[in-house]
Amino acid sequence: MWRYEALLPIDRPEGVSRAAGGTPLVRSPGLDEVAGARVFVKDEGESPTGAYKDRGSAVAVPHTIATGDDVVGTVSYGNMAISTAAHATSLDRECVVFVPADIPAGRLEHIARYEPTVVQVDGDYGELYGDALDLSERLPIDVLVSDAPTRISGYKTALFEICESFAPETPDVIALPASSGGFASGVWLGIRDLERAGLIDESPRLCLVQTAASDPLTRAFEAGATDPTPLSPDETGETIAHSIGNPNPPSGARALAAVRDTDGAVVSVTDDEIRTATRQFAVDGGFCVEPSSATTLAGVSRLADRGEIDADESVVLVPTGTGFKESGAGGTDVSTEKVRRDDLADRLASMLPA
Ligand SMILES: *Cc1c(COP(=O)(O)O)cnc(C)c1O
Repeated sequence: MWRYEALLPIDRPEGVSRAAGGTPLVRSPGLDEVAGARVFVKDEGESPTGAYKDRGSAVAVPHTIATGDDVVGTVSYGNMAISTAAHATSLDRECVVFVPADIPAGRLEHIARYEPTVVQVDGDYGELYGDALDLSERLPIDVLVSDAPTRISGYKTALFEICESFAPETPDVIALPASSGGFASGVWLGIRDLERAGLIDESPRLCLVQTAASDPLTRAFEAGATDPTPLSPDETGETIAHSIGNPNPPSGARALAAVRDTDGAVVSVTDDEIRTATRQFAVDGGFCVEPSSATTLAGVSRLADRGEIDADESVVLVPTGTGFKESGAGGTDVSTEKVRRDDLADRLASMLPA
């Protein structure tokens, strides 16, 4: 991503930040039929901590460190926490991560690997995002949340890389999962940079996908609203797509503006569709993605069914996070054949296609 250093607010830093970005973009014909379009996969799971968040942390964390001695902090119990902790420790800076009191042990383990100070907060965790700014003002801590401008500027580089891979063409559609709307905001910033520089004539349509369990952006899009209405607790449900599903997205208005500006769409998909799409990513594409990321395939398939995407259009699915952190989460058929070594040749002969 530091190929685009001149368009970022900091000089190329040392440490793990240098490893952020530069993920592969591959044509994946095996996914065409399910998607209903010509599929390309921009695999953000190949980031240092397994999620696109590293593009933002790679800019935001060194930026903060360069401006003072404050401890770096974040409010997250997922990929944001893992990424922020990794980038802070890589530059030898303390990091404090605020997680909910009931955080699952597996999630905690991924965060704790980088040895930040983990604070389990009892109380309304949703409100902590708002408290973060206040904490930043009162204490020597810089809390970097999803809509920190330096973070969002780092996300632009995903769009630059996609467009550079396609040049001189541009893809017809880019599909992202959306939660806070931070990534969508960054990608939109990137589109506008390239338009202003005269480097692209026509913008890709930005399609955002949400989990039906918590989809304030889809609701606002369908209602023609410019601002999402925060969902109440009884309007939200459980979902396997644990990295998305923000009932009150801080960058929601900007994400909606991005979609409308690029003539895109917002759709929601159910957990059943997400389960199927996670499997299809692996079985038909060879990609191990988070359920949150698999929403892109399910969402594009839905838009193609509705006639909003044509079979000959190029669609970039952005799996935002690796599925390798999900091991043991269930949902995968692990039935195998047990064979005695003596019988191996005979048994194998019966298993292989004739
Ligand atoms: C954070 C995250 C998202 C959502 O991104 P926003 O910027 O909050 O919209 C999607 N997928 C994965 C894997 C994430 O970690």
